[in-house]
Amino acid sequence: MNGPVPADLPVAQARLAIAAALCAPHEPERVELRGALGRVLAGDVIAPLDVPAHDNAGMDGYALRGDDLAESDDTVLRVVGRGLAGHAYTGAVPPGAAVRIMTGAVLPSGCDTVAPIERCELDGERVHIAAGLRRGDNARARGEDLRAGGVALPAGRWLRPADIGLLASLGFSDVTVERRLRVALLSSGDELRPIGQPLDAGAGYDSNRYTLTAMLQRLGCEVLDLGLVADDPARIEAVLRRGCEAADVVITSGGVSSGDADYLRRAMAALGDVAFWRIAMRPGRPMAFGRIASGGRDALLFGLPGNPVAVMVTFYAFVRDALLQLMGARATPLPLWPVVALEALRKKPGRTEYQRARLQRLADGRWGARITGSQGSAILHSMSEADGLLVLPDELGTVAAGATVDFLPFEGLI
Ligand code: AMP
Ligand code: MG
Repeated sequence: MNGPVPADLPVAQARLAIAAALCAPHEPERVELRGALGRVLAGDVIAPLDVPAHDNAGMDGYALRGDDLAESDDTVLRVVGRGLAGHAYTGAVPPGAAVRIMTGAVLPSGCDTVAPIERCELDGERVHIAAGLRRGDNARARGEDLRAGGVALPAGRWLRPADIGLLASLGFSDVTVERRLRVALLSSGDELRPIGQPLDAGAGYDSNRYTLTAMLQRLGCEVLDLGLVADDPARIEAVLRRGCEAADVVITSGGVSSGDADYLRRAMAALGDVAFWRIAMRPGRPMAFGRIASGGRDALLFGLPGNPVAVMVTFYAFVRDALLQLMGARATPLPLWPVVALEALRKKPGRTEYQRARLQRLADGRWGARITGSQGSAILHSMSEADGLLVLPDELGTVAAGATVDFLPFEGLI
C-alpha cells in the first residue's frame, strides 16, 4: 500500500498524551525526617507553632526601645543587663535603658530594635549608639518565617534540603509522604551482552539498564531490574508480565523501531493498549507508550529506543515528568536557560533536536555553549562530556553562531 506517510508526533503532543494517561497511586506512609529527602509530601504540612517562636535579636548588640532613639543624633542609653541565646533577659527595660544581647536571644519585653555592636561604644554603664538606626532594625519578629496554622509546605512538595530543615524547625521528627514508585526495567536485543561476560564479534554491552537505573535512583524510584531478555517471544512476554505485576511502571529499551525483529512490540501490544509512536525529535524517534495488564495488575509502559543517547533524551523529555506526576509531585517545570551558540548548529526544522553541549563563561559575563563532538545517538561519551542539552524547538532551522538558544542543564545543586 502506498498511503500518505503519517507525520511524526510533535514532542509537546506526546507529552500531553502521556500526562493525560497518568493516575498517581496516592498511598501515603510515614517516614523519619532524615529519610525524607527526595520524597513527596502526601498532604499539606501545617505549622504547629510560630517560627521563630519569639521576637528575637537578628544581630549581636544592644536591644532597646525604638521610642528612645534620638531623631538624628547619637543615642545614649543605660545598660541594665544581658540576654544570651537560650538565656533571655527577663527583667524590665525602662525607658532610657538597653540590654546587651546576642543574635537569636529573645528580645526583652518592650524592646523592638537592636543596635549592632559595630555602631555601639560602651562607656561605663552607658552605651553610645551612632545615629542612623531606625525602629525595628535588626529585630526578628515572632512568626516572621512561619505562622502557626499556616501551610508550611504544600502537598506534592518534592522535598529538598531546605524543606527538611524547615520541617525540623517546626519540630517534626517524621513526615507523611507518598510511597516510592516502583519501576521495572528490561533490555532486549540478541546483540547485547550483560556486563561481566566477554564480548563476541558484533556484540555490545547492555549499558542502558545502568543508565536508566542511575536516572531512576536520582528520582527516588524503587528499581526492579528484570535483566536482559533475549529476542524470544515467550521469554519477553513472561518478563513483561512479571514487571507489570510487580511495578507501577515498566521501562524497556530497544526493540521498538519498525526495523527491529518485533517480538517486544508484539508482546507489548498483546498485553495491553500500547501506542507505537514516531516522535518528531532527534535523537529518539521511536517510542512506545501505553498500559499493560497481567494477573489482575496493570502498569504504565514506556518502550524507549535502544540507542544509549536516545534512551537518556527520551527519559528526560517524557519519562522524568511522568514519573514525578505519578509520584504525586507538583514539581516546577525544568528551566531552560538562554545561552549563546558559540558555533553554527545544523538543525532540521519540523523536529525538536537535543544537542549535547558544554558551557563556557564569556568575557561579557554571558554563558556560551559548544557542541560535544559527534551527535550520533549511540555516542554516550559525548553525553558524558556534556554539561547539558541544547533544546532546539521544532520551528527552528540551522542556528547561526552567536544566536541565543535554550540550554537544559544536567545538574542542579545537590
Ligand atoms: P534498537 O532500538 O533495538 O534497534 O537498538 C538501537 C541500537 O541501540 C542498537 O545498536 C542496539 O545495539 C543499541 N542498544 C539497544 N539496547 C541497548 C542496551 N540495553 N544497551 C546498549 N545499547 C543498546
Ligand atoms: Mg534491537
